Amino acid sequence: MANFRFQAIEQMLNRKPDLSTISGDKISSYFGIDVFGHSAMSEFLTKGAYNAVKEAMDSGKTVDRVVADEVASGLKGWAMSKGCTHYTHWFQPLTGTTAEKHDSFFEPTQDGSSIEKFSGSLLVQQEPDASSFPNGGIRNTFEARGYTAWDPSSPAFIMDKTLCIPTIFISYTGESLDNKMPLLKALSAIDASASAVAQYFDKGATKVTATLGWEQEYFLVDTALANARPDISLAGRALVGHLPAKGQQLDDHYFGIIPERVTAFMKDFEMQALRLGIPVRTRHNEVAPNQFECAPMFEECNLANDHNLLLMTILEKVGRKHHFRVLMHEKPFAGLNGSGKHNNWSLSTNKGVNLLAPGSTPKSNLQFLTFFVNTIKAIHDNSDMLRAAIASASNDHRLGANEAPPAIISVFIGSKLTEVLNEIENNVNIGQLSPEDKTELKLNIGKIPQILLDNTDRNRTSPFAFTGNKFEFRAVGSSANCAESMIALNTIVAKQLFEFKMNVDKRIVDGVKKDDAIFQELKAIIIASKKILFEGNGYGEEWAIEAEKRGLSNLKDTPRALQVYAHKNTEKIYSDLNIFNPIELAARHDIELEKYHMKIQIEGRILNEMVKSMIIPTAIKYQNSLIQNITGLKSIFGADSDSIIQQKNILSKVNEHLNNLYILSEEMVNERRIANKIEDSEKRAFAYCDNVKPYFEKIKYHSDKLEILVDDELWPMPKLREVLYAK
Ligand code: ADP
Ligand code: MG
Repeated sequence: MANFRFQAIEQMLNRKPDLSTISGDKISSYFGIDVFGHSAMSEFLTKGAYNAVKEAMDSGKTVDRVVADEVASGLKGWAMSKGCTHYTHWFQPLTGTTAEKHDSFFEPTQDGSSIEKFSGSLLVQQEPDASSFPNGGIRNTFEARGYTAWDPSSPAFIMDKTLCIPTIFISYTGESLDNKMPLLKALSAIDASASAVAQYFDKGATKVTATLGWEQEYFLVDTALANARPDISLAGRALVGHLPAKGQQLDDHYFGIIPERVTAFMKDFEMQALRLGIPVRTRHNEVAPNQFECAPMFEECNLANDHNLLLMTILEKVGRKHHFRVLMHEKPFAGLNGSGKHNNWSLSTNKGVNLLAPGSTPKSNLQFLTFFVNTIKAIHDNSDMLRAAIASASNDHRLGANEAPPAIISVFIGSKLTEVLNEIENNVNIGQLSPEDKTELKLNIGKIPQILLDNTDRNRTSPFAFTGNKFEFRAVGSSANCAESMIALNTIVAKQLFEFKMNVDKRIVDGVKKDDAIFQELKAIIIASKKILFEGNGYGEEWAIEAEKRGLSNLKDTPRALQVYAHKNTEKIYSDLNIFNPIELAARHDIELEKYHMKIQIEGRILNEMVKSMIIPTAIKYQNSLIQNITGLKSIFGADSDSIIQQKNILSKVNEHLNNLYILSEEMVNERRIANKIEDSEKRAFAYCDNVKPYFEKIKYHSDKLEILVDDELWPMPKLREVLYAK
């Protein structure tokens, strides 16, 4: 048997850092040069076209066809001046990644020559052959066609000499088949509801933008080593593998020195990201060996999400060039930290005010508290919707595992803000506020900025934490499209803010003064949503027990987490705010279930193949050498000599694990066959979850035992100590 393991290790050891593309130029000299941003627009667009696009970006106004023609022509001019020959509508089908279909500007003419063409209609709308993208039955029921339509709020960019135009993806009948369209709708809902509330405090707050700052974690594995393991190369995670003696116990990797080859890779991808206008700033080692993180400055949510998707593409592409496989899986290695994608989220007004930042006056702090408390209430009422938005086969391994937030959704706010909320709860009388009440409250609320400044308690175990001037949703998985969590979060907060506005207005109509009405409503909300607040250790066993007592959900796997999509209340929230109609919601549920079962199915197949064609044959080889040795010892020392006892012992252990491996993988295959026959997508997902997946761990157990027993020279794939400590 060819053993690729040693060839791979040798290849890896011979690698040199690739410094060929590292430039010493100032970042500001190339930031955004591959983006059709304001400077490119002002050079290549007429004044009218420029203003129309700017208006579309700022206020969502549609660009008419005549102007679209002008924009198309400007875009083509810009793209061709930068060497582009092709263009593509860049969209986010429900596969979780992005898709593109390239077309050429070039068009042959009747007289045998040719021209470069790009019209407004090609910019505005395309019909990609979309039949193989997930649609959850939408296109089967209605009409097989799908359209992509230009999203002027996210600027076009150039990748690999192709002009990429961010688009939404919809069915012939207008149902969304992507993540961008519902995200844009959720963002417009939060704009409407949050500006209405912000106007209690500032009449000039006419627009509110949701901001997103993501932090992307990933692992790097040398490509040669990754390719020598079917699990890592196909499923992006190790399905078997004994954890090396040295894991992350020493915490010596966190913020440690970044290896030179990795630094070269980072500088390279950062430069490409910066050219595309992605404002990446932070790079560092993460906790686990070979784990890293990259984070940009926060941006408007839709743009930030496009940038995250682009960054994931760039990471993979640049990774290949540097001979790294970039693992964005949430839990590539059992027993080590998983990878998340913290979604830092806030709301900001057209006047540049961060609504989740405490201010310096009681008035601005009342505004801060209003948005803060309403967010908490939204999470309290709809935590299952948030949980569903982050559910995936791969994130299931992470939630609740080593250094990961638990599957129980709770909110951390820190001790100082807890005090402030208690103050409101205890001091506000539901009738009119007395002058003393007011002074006392105002004094306390006025103090918020000072107390927050020295607020150093940062709870890393919370899935949803307030971190000074934003909330950080930490349970989002590293491979996820942030849109999914951002759709859910912005929708539920929008719904809550609409309700808040209605209730406060009611109180005002009843004769209560505005500030008092706000305080009274905040008090009611604080009382109603208290049980979602948790300041303790989210990893602890006790929290699961306590959370159950409080009546909080603990949905540990995807099929269970997704059930909320079938609830009438979820349907009502999403359709009331026009984010998803019932058909779209049902389709999404179905697509997620389908993705879940397919992922587990693929992993099951890989595991079975590895067991049968790699691990068992290796164990048999070793078994044979033991048998040969025992026979030899026997002929020299006699059948009952002591010297063969140990050998027999090892032999029987190998035998036991080998038999178990065979039996378990047969049983797993059988369960898979049964599950595959189930027509109903939800039942099938449950069958995969409850009957197939539990075999993975059992199989891994016996395989890992064999890995330790069998002669190291025979082991047919790179061991985790090699995969993880590759330089
Ligand atoms: P960490 O959480 O690792 O301590 P920081 O607190 O510096 O790091 O910020 C993490 C992320 O939060 C960054 O990506 C940053 O852009 C983002 N962030 C900061 N302020 C906001 C905001 N108002 N809205 C959204 N994201 C924000
Ligand atoms: Mg963070």
